[in-house]
Amino acid sequence: MPTQLERARDGVVTSAMGRVAERERRDPEFVRERVADGRAVIPNNHGHEGLDPMVIGEAFATKVNANIGNSEDTSDPEAELEKLHAAVHFGADTVMDLSTGPDLDRIREANVAHSPVPVGTVPIYEAVKRAGSPADVTRDLLRDVIEKQARQGVDYMTVHAGVLMEHLPLTDGRTTGIVSRGGSILARWMEEHGEQNPLYVDFPELCETFREHDVTVSLGDGLRPGSLADASDEAQFAELDTLGELTGVAQERGVQVMVEGPGHVPMDEIRDNVDRQREACDGAPFYVLGPLVTDVAPGYDHVTSAIGATEAARAGAAMLCYVTPKEHLGLPEREDVREGMAAYRIAAHAADVANGLPGARDWDDALSEARYDFDWRRQFDLALDPERAREFHDRTLPGDNYKEARFCSMCGAEFCSMRIDRDAREAGEGMTDLDDETDLDASPAAAVNLPPVGTHDAERLPAWPPEREGPNDASGEADD
Ligand code: SF4
Repeated sequence: MPTQLERARDGVVTSAMGRVAERERRDPEFVRERVADGRAVIPNNHGHEGLDPMVIGEAFATKVNANIGNSEDTSDPEAELEKLHAAVHFGADTVMDLSTGPDLDRIREANVAHSPVPVGTVPIYEAVKRAGSPADVTRDLLRDVIEKQARQGVDYMTVHAGVLMEHLPLTDGRTTGIVSRGGSILARWMEEHGEQNPLYVDFPELCETFREHDVTVSLGDGLRPGSLADASDEAQFAELDTLGELTGVAQERGVQVMVEGPGHVPMDEIRDNVDRQREACDGAPFYVLGPLVTDVAPGYDHVTSAIGATEAARAGAAMLCYVTPKEHLGLPEREDVREGMAAYRIAAHAADVANGLPGARDWDDALSEARYDFDWRRQFDLALDPERAREFHDRTLPGDNYKEARFCSMCGAEFCSMRIDRDAREAGEGMTDLDDETDLDASPAAAVNLPPVGTHDAERLPAWPPEREGPNDASGEADD
């Protein structure tokens, strides 16, 4: 079956392209053109049933990925599904299952089966797990793992194929060395075997598997900087040039491609990083991990990175990988997922507004009009995190009567500036004429009932809790 890229090149608007055009308020032909020339991807494994197609590309709404998955120290498949549910509930456009603990296959298959959004993986994690150590990974094992995960319905895979032997000495003087898990594993493998990166050597062959299942390749940045001191260095950009070469290799074979980026980058270098990726990779979608704009705030890295992510999206990055408050400190839990998603939904939306994305500002205008009308219920419904907004309001003014109040507890009734302003306008005291109420129905914002794209209606989420197969289902089955 042809990939979305191949169909687009043939001039065909697929049902997936039609669906993303509807979600993005774009013409289907606009979507097809961008997929055809590699500037957008629709991660959509042929085997992922129940997926609601979405598009990643500079011309479309900025997307947010949430990383989920277990580690050696935590292994509860139900908890993993709960994280998936939380990520989608709080607005994730894609999820990456980065599990490295037990039950890898069951967790991955459950995630694909329950996820309405594309699921990504990093196959080398499973290869290391099965081999027992990075040095014991073989080329055959890597191919087997990628083939199996493609059959399981994974929509996109991160492969660190651009880390080459000749790049490794360039990291010698770094403050934080190689911080990418995939990058460090492959560097160790190359040093141990004295051979080139197997993902690079076998990349054309691996593309056959990606093409067969329409798995989108996410070219990993294994040499991304892990500190401001290492940002924009020779190692990072040498790898980026290789990623540009691999982008062409994959696209020639009909495989959809996006490219991953840093990491930790000072604010003033972010735009240059995006421009450089666009040039090196011929406009393939850029998927950035943050970047964090300062290294001094462990515990708050969802904030440090959301600042960088906003700047990156403003400059043209197409997807942002969220960071939670636990970054550098521990495995995130549900509340961390919520905080990280909120920070990144804000980053993505702020960039979309500034970039003039069609419909993006309508959401802000609708909320502002509801605010000036003291329509508290509509404010909550329109809020990026309605539960949080309602909870904070109700902590001090819980009664139903306060849902029509012309003030809140922040300034109080007497000093509510919006009430004072409205009263003055309504009394006609020489100020601009104002209707009794803002006419929401006449406003372009009236059409906005939900955030424009990327946020799933709760009713469309997979059932929770998930159906259980039986009492023995949660027992520790080997992952392969
Ligand atoms: S009390 Fe202050 S914060 Fe609350 S609605 Fe009025 S102006 Fe806004």
